[in-house]
Order: sequence, then C-alpha cells, then structure tokens
Amino acid sequence: MGYKEHQRAKTKNIVEQIALERIYRLFELAEQEFEHHKERSTRYVELARKIGTRNKVKIPKELKKQFCKNCGSFLKIGKNCKIRIMGTMMKITCNECKITRKTKIGSE
Ligand SMILES: [Zn+2]
Repeated sequence: MGYKEHQRAKTKNIVEQIALERIYRLFELAEQEFEHHKERSTRYVELARKIGTRNKVKIPKELKKQFCKNCGSFLKIGKNCKIRIMGTMMKITCNECKITRKTKIGSE
C-alpha cells in the first residue's frame, strides 16, 4: 500500500468513526426523547439511518433492534414493541405498524 492509499484509507476510517459516533448519539437522544416526544425519537432514528447510508456505515447490530425497519419508529421494549423468543429466533413486533421481524439470536 502506497503512502497516498494509506492516507485515504485512514481518512475513510475517521469518517466512519465519526459517523458511528453520531449514530450512537442519535440513538441515545431517541431514547431520551421517547417518553415525551415520540415523534422526535423517530426523527433521530431517521437521521441516524441517513448518516449510515450516506457514509456507507452499517447500523451497529445492537442498535438494529431499537428501531423498526418498516416504519422507522424507535422501539422500546414494553412500550411500543414486543419481543418473543422462540428457540434460537427472536420475534420483534412493532406496535406502531404491527410488523413482526424475525432475527436469529446471536447472529444479528
Ligand atoms: Zn414499525
């Protein structure tokens, strides 16, 4: 790897890192606003997803469970979503749009 390539790779990592930090921060805010301003928490999720797409950064797996891919709502267990464990599968039902998503425990 030449010097220039190296520099570029490094820069990309920093961009990714900043994007990730912003994503985590937005999910934190979404959680804080959820109780009193649910529409704001949905907006934060939307922003976090946009940052991910724009910077080609994947939403971390632990955050993926915290929003509905269908309607984009921030999901809080016991508030607006239900989680059912069935063997090695986990079913997450979003109460906002009633969509159930299945994920394998441990893989996502
Ligand atoms: Zn939903």
